[in-house]
Amino acid sequence: MSRVSERKRKMTRIGKVTIGILVVLVMLLFYFTWELLADNRVEAGNGDKQKNKQELVTGSKPNTENQEEKNPSSKSEKLDKDTDSSTKQDEQSAKQANKKKEDAEVEKNQTEHQTDQQQAEKEKAPAKEPSGTGKTIYLTFDDGPHPQATDRIIQLLEQYNAKAAFFMLQPNMRNNPELVQHMVDHGHTVGAHGVTHNAKKIYQSPQTFVQEMNTTLDFIKQTTGVASKLIRAPYGSKPYITPPFQAASDQQGFILWDWNIDSEDWKRTDGSFVPYTIQQVNQYQGHESLVVLLHERPTTADHLEGLLQYFQSNGYDMQALDAATTPVQF
Ligand SMILES: [Zn+2]
Repeated sequence: MSRVSERKRKMTRIGKVTIGILVVLVMLLFYFTWELLADNRVEAGNGDKQKNKQELVTGSKPNTENQEEKNPSSKSEKLDKDTDSSTKQDEQSAKQANKKKEDAEVEKNQTEHQTDQQQAEKEKAPAKEPSGTGKTIYLTFDDGPHPQATDRIIQLLEQYNAKAAFFMLQPNMRNNPELVQHMVDHGHTVGAHGVTHNAKKIYQSPQTFVQEMNTTLDFIKQTTGVASKLIRAPYGSKPYITPPFQAASDQQGFILWDWNIDSEDWKRTDGSFVPYTIQQVNQYQGHESLVVLLHERPTTADHLEGLLQYFQSNGYDMQALDAATTPVQF
C-alpha cells in the first residue's frame, strides 16, 4: 500500500467518526427540544385548568348573592366563604403544579362539565327574580270565569297595581266570553284548565288531556285573539302528569304551571285563606318564585283585598306569569 492511499484511508476514517459524532449531537438536540416542549405543554394545560377553576368560583357567586338577598344576615358568612375559597385556590394551584399531564387533561374535562352546569344554573337564576325588589309573587286564579267573581277580582287587582294569571275552563268561558276579554284588556295572563275538570275523563289518556287543553286554548284564541300555551292541570300535575302525559304536553308546546302556595280558598270560604296564605308565604323555604293558587269564587273575591293589601305593604311585586317565566312544577 502506498503512502498516499494510506493517508486517504485515515482521512476517510476521521470523516466517518466526525459524521457519527454529528449524528449523536443532532439526536441529543432533538431529544432535549422534545423534553422542553413537553414541559411547556403540561404548563399550558395547568393554565387552562386554573382558568376554569376561576370561572367556577365566579360562576358560583350569583347563587350566593341570591341567597343573601333572601337572608341578609348571611353577609359575614359570605365574606368568610370568599376568604376560604381564595385559600383553597392557592392550595389548588400548588397541587396543580405537581400534577402530570394526563391528570390535568382528565380534571380539565371534569371541570369543564361542572362549569357548564354552573353556567346553566346562572342563566336560569334571573328568571326566578325578574323584579328589582326580589320579592315577586304570581297570583293564579283557577276554574273561572265566574259571573259573580271575575270582575270584582279584576277591579281589586287594578286597585293594588297587581297582575295575575287566570287558568279557565272552556264551558265557563263559553257562558261568559266577555269576562275573558276583560282579563286580557286589563293586562292579565290567560291560560287553559281544561273542559270537564273530571279526573277520570281528562286523564283517561294523554290524548284526552291534550284534546281538552287544545279545545280550551282554541276558545281563548277565538274569543280574545291571544295565542296562549299556558296550562294548569286540574288537581295539579301530581300524580296525573306521568311521563307519557308530559311528553304529549311537550309535543304540543304547552307550558305547564303548578303552584307552591295553596291558599285553600275553595275550602276556607270564611276568609281564613288570607292569614293561611300569608303564613305559608312567610315560611316558604324554596328558591322558586312564589306561585299562589286561588280560585274564581265569590267567597274568594269577598276576602281577596286583605291578601293584596298585605302583599303591597310588604313590598311584594304581584306579576302575571307568562310564557317567558320558568314554570313552577311539583
Ligand atoms: Zn281547578
